[in-house]
Parts: sequence; structure tokens; C-alpha cells
Amino acid sequence: MARRTLQRAGAGLLGLCLAGTLLVGTSPTTAGADPGAEQQRATRKNPTAYGWGGAVASVDPEATAAGLRVLRDGGNAVDAAVATAAALGVTEPYSAGIGGGGYLVYYDAKTRRVQTIDGRETAPTTMPGTAFTDPVSGKPYPMEQLVTSGTSVGVPGTPATWERALQRWGRKSLAANLQPAIRLADRGFEVDQTFRDQTLQNKERFAQITPTAKLYLPDGDAPAVRSIFRNPELAETYRAMARDGARVMYRGPLADEIVRTVRRPAKEPDATLPVRPGYLTSSDLAAYGVVDQAPTVVRYRDLDVYGMAPSSSGGTTVGEALNILDTVNLGRMSTPRALHYYLDASALAFADRAAYVGDPAFVPVPTEALLSQRFADSRACQIPRQQALVTPTAKGDLSGRGCRTAGASATTDQGRSTTHLVTSDRWGNVVSYTLTIEQTGGSGIVVPGRGFLLNNELTDFSAAYVATDPNRIQGGKRPRSSMSPTIVLDRQGRPVYAVGSPGGSTIITTVLQTLVNRIDLGLTLPEAVAAPRASHRNAAEVTAEPAFIERYGEALRSRGYAFAPNPAEIGAVTALEFRPGGYVLAAAEPTRRGGGSAGVVVPSTRR
Ligand code: GLU
Repeated sequence: MARRTLQRAGAGLLGLCLAGTLLVGTSPTTAGADPGAEQQRATRKNPTAYGWGGAVASVDPEATAAGLRVLRDGGNAVDAAVATAAALGVTEPYSAGIGGGGYLVYYDAKTRRVQTIDGRETAPTTMPGTAFTDPVSGKPYPMEQLVTSGTSVGVPGTPATWERALQRWGRKSLAANLQPAIRLADRGFEVDQTFRDQTLQNKERFAQITPTAKLYLPDGDAPAVRSIFRNPELAETYRAMARDGARVMYRGPLADEIVRTVRRPAKEPDATLPVRPGYLTSSDLAAYGVVDQAPTVVRYRDLDVYGMAPSSSGGTTVGEALNILDTVNLGRMSTPRALHYYLDASALAFADRAAYVGDPAFVPVPTEALLSQRFADSRACQIPRQQALVTPTAKGDLSGRGCRTAGASATTDQGRSTTHLVTSDRWGNVVSYTLTIEQTGGSGIVVPGRGFLLNNELTDFSAAYVATDPNRIQGGKRPRSSMSPTIVLDRQGRPVYAVGSPGGSTIITTVLQTLVNRIDLGLTLPEAVAAPRASHRNAAEVTAEPAFIERYGEALRSRGYAFAPNPAEIGAVTALEFRPGGYVLAAAEPTRRGGGSAGVVVPSTRR
């Protein structure tokens, strides 16, 4: 059976290449025989793929190829997700890696259940609430100092997430799933413009931290486009993990080195940044554990939308906005009117996110109330029919009575880091996984000789300490995230979509907008992913891509919206759509972040 699938995959690949449609992945018959050819095939990009036998979509062709290879070798969606994520640690090291954390959502075909893992970083237990406050001024340190510091480094959750996911649902070992990434780190990958640009964007701070400059600024500069970037130190770290498991990150020599690095970051003598030390201890690392978390779920139209519960605000905020939108029929409206509802639903949900969501292990989070239709109804009635909601708007009254609100707050933070990947397999299992080291380049601190960057996830805590803020710093706590890995099922419990994105707090609106585009506005999945984006996070202005403003600006301005043009793009979606008979459509970005990469095990020319 497996053999037949492999042969069909090979034939399909050949057919499509001849037709001029290039697919990501390696032909199973020649894989490994010629590393140069393997690299050439793997670096081809294709934002959409159609077919059977499982699929992978990520931002990077090498990573997608790693996931497909594991699927072809008998791995399932979870194995492929780990292999893809590990490869992203090599090719997308500024977005994600073993020095960071993330959230994994899994659909199990046998039980038709969705389960999740919260692999978010935690704050060191001795971190004081005022760790980000300058004792001299009494105000938070400047953000550019906080982001490049040991103080912002949380206990990494990614290695433990991989191990736990494989233990619960995988078919292969961690060691097996790390192999493609180990090979990739050893043989290297071709530097593209995105990698070079991201390195240049970080050059000034990377240059001030000795091991980081050594790894990522090899001759004092960002690696040139088309040069081959190798990371043998990361390959060695992955090998250690393959040998001894994720525990190598949490106990023993590597754990000690991580602690030393955070507590005494190796600065260049002429460094101008303070690169303040952090609070991390060996006990923090040894005590780390992922959380097997129940997902959030809301009924939207005739679908069930599953997301990530707190400590991420993704599931509650996407869920609340969908509940609000479920009170109207977007499909019957003009596009500007539908967008009006999309924007205001999002603003209202963001007001509640700010007021109510933090790590439930430390603060009471009213997840159930936030996701109740009664509460959404009480928020929906606040959306004015003709004019934009005035923002920032206030949080809602959780009792769901009437149209009440109290106190206002806006969210403007947004990042371009992080990465999202989706995988499925021939058995029908699905993974939607978002992982990050927070901002592009994380803390900027590489663990010397180990080949990876440490996160600066703790900057996701509110910088100023306010005792009533659910997202205030507390030792041991997870900072509130916006990551929104999502899986959508039909009423029979079969998967219909899997979707997610990077982008800081714009992750939430990007996932929401992609779902609305697909479910309500009649766009195909690739169109829904490619469509121009706008993100209303309860600020006075809506952040939007230039193409969105060009297309809808006039109509929406006449309704009272003001726009903050985003010079860059918003988000970088990867998504899957499932059709009867195991047929799957994999979609990545056609242009954002230089374009993503989708692949299937057995390609089809049918659309
Ligand atoms: N740290 C962010 C979060 O967890 C993600 C960062 C980004 O996407 O840029 O929400």
C-alpha cells in the first residue's frame, strides 16, 4: 500500500513538472541520491497544491519538503508537523525554532476530536512584576532595549511540544522526524531575499551580541542572496535531541548553557545596547511543562471552529468575533457592508481580549462567557448599521445583558515574526501549528555554539505593571499570545479547513478575515489567502495593507473608518481545505513574505 502510494506520488510529480507546474518536494525515487538536485527541487515554490495522501503548507519550500518526505515515509500529520517545524528552525530561524514556543492544534480522524497543546514560554519564577520597569524613571524601559535582552527570554516550549505531540499522536520517533532538518542544517539552504532582508533588519543588534554575529553575520554582513547557509551547530543540537529527547533543552549541559547565556549575554565590547540579563534559572528549565489544553469551539454558520484556548487569546477572540458575525448574513451584503461588520466585530472582540484574557493558571479567564452566544449577541447589537463603531470601544459586560460596556482599551502591537504550518495525512488527521520566537530575530541572543536564537516572548506581557491587568508579569506565567491555529469541522465532525498565520495581534484578524473570505464572501481558499487585509484591533485607526485601502478605502471612509496604512504586509497564512474522498487543497501566500510553499503527497491536476 505504502509502496503504491510512493510510486503514484513520483508519477504525479513528473507529470506536473512536465506540465510546467512545479511542485515542492522531492521525488521519492531519487530523494537523497543527489543532494544538489534535492536542494534545487526543494527550493521551488508553489503557493497552492491539490491532491491526496496528505499535504503540507508552510512559508518555506525546504520545510514543506521535509514534511512531505516524512508523510511519504509513513509518518502522519503530527510527524510531518514536527519535521516541518524543525526544518523551519534551520531556514526561518528568525521566526521560530527550539528557542521559542507555540501552540499546536490536532484533529484525530479516528475519534473525530480536536485536541491542543499549549507550548507557550513561561516567565522565570523569580521574575518580578516590575521587571520591565526602569527603577529610575518608574516607566517601562524603551522597547528596543527590552526586545534585545535576557530579561525578555522565556523558558522555551517548542522542544517539549514536539515531544509531547509525538508521544500522544505520532507514528515516528522524535529522532526520525528530526532527520530531514539535521540534513538540511548540515548541507545548507540557498539564501533568498527574505532571509537576507530579515538578517539586515537585525544587523545592528545582532552585531552587538558575539555568538549571534558569528552565526548570522559571517563576514560582518548578512549572507548574500543565493549563497548557501549552513548551520552545523544546530545540526549537532538536533542530533543531541534526537539521541536523548527534548530533555536536553531542560536539563544538563545545554540547559546550563542556556541559563548562562540569559543571565550573562555575551556582548561585544563596543555594544551600545544594554542587553540586560534575565532571571532564568536551571529550576525554571527543569520545571517546564506543556499543557494538554482543551480547545475553544464556536459554531459558525453550519461549522464548528476550533481554536487555541488561553494562554493564547486566539481562540477566544476569533471565536467571539465569529459569534458576533453569526448574527448577520455577510454573504447577502455588499462587500463594504460585510467588511464593516468584520471590522467592528473584531474591534469589539479585541476590547474584551484586552480586558479579560491572560494565563488561566494565574488569573481567572472567563473563557466560557467570552465564547457564549448570549455575550456575542450583546456585543453585536453595538455595531452601528451605517457608521463605524467609535474606537477604542469599551469591554463588554460578561453577563450578556443588553448592550452594556465599561472602560476602553486598544491594541496596536503587531509583529511580522512567527510562522504557521498546516499538515494532513492519508488517514485524515490534521495539524494546525503556530510557533514563534516572538519578534523577527527573537531576543537576538544565540546560545554560543548551539546554533539557535532565544525568544523574547516575555515582551508579550504588558510592559507597565497594573495589578488588575490579566496580562501583567508574574513569575512562572505564560504571556498572553495572539497565535490562532485553527481547525474547522463540519457537523459530522469531519475537517473542512485548517488555517493560521503569524503577525502578532494581527494574527487574530488575519485568521478571522481568511475564514470570512472563504466561508461567507465566496472566495476560493487561495483567493481568501491572497486577498488584501485589514486589521481592526480596537484602535482609532484600522491597520490595512495598501491594496485594501485602494480597493475599499473610499467606501469604508464614508462609513467613518480611518486607516493607518501598513507599509508592509499583514500576516502570512497557510491553510488546507478538505474535500470528499481525502482530496485536499493546500494553500500558502502567493507573494507575502516572498511567497509560501504548499505540497501534497499525491498531486492532482483536478482543481
Ligand atoms: N509573540 C506573538 C504572539 O504570541 C507572535 C509574534 C508575531 O507573530 O510576530 O502573539
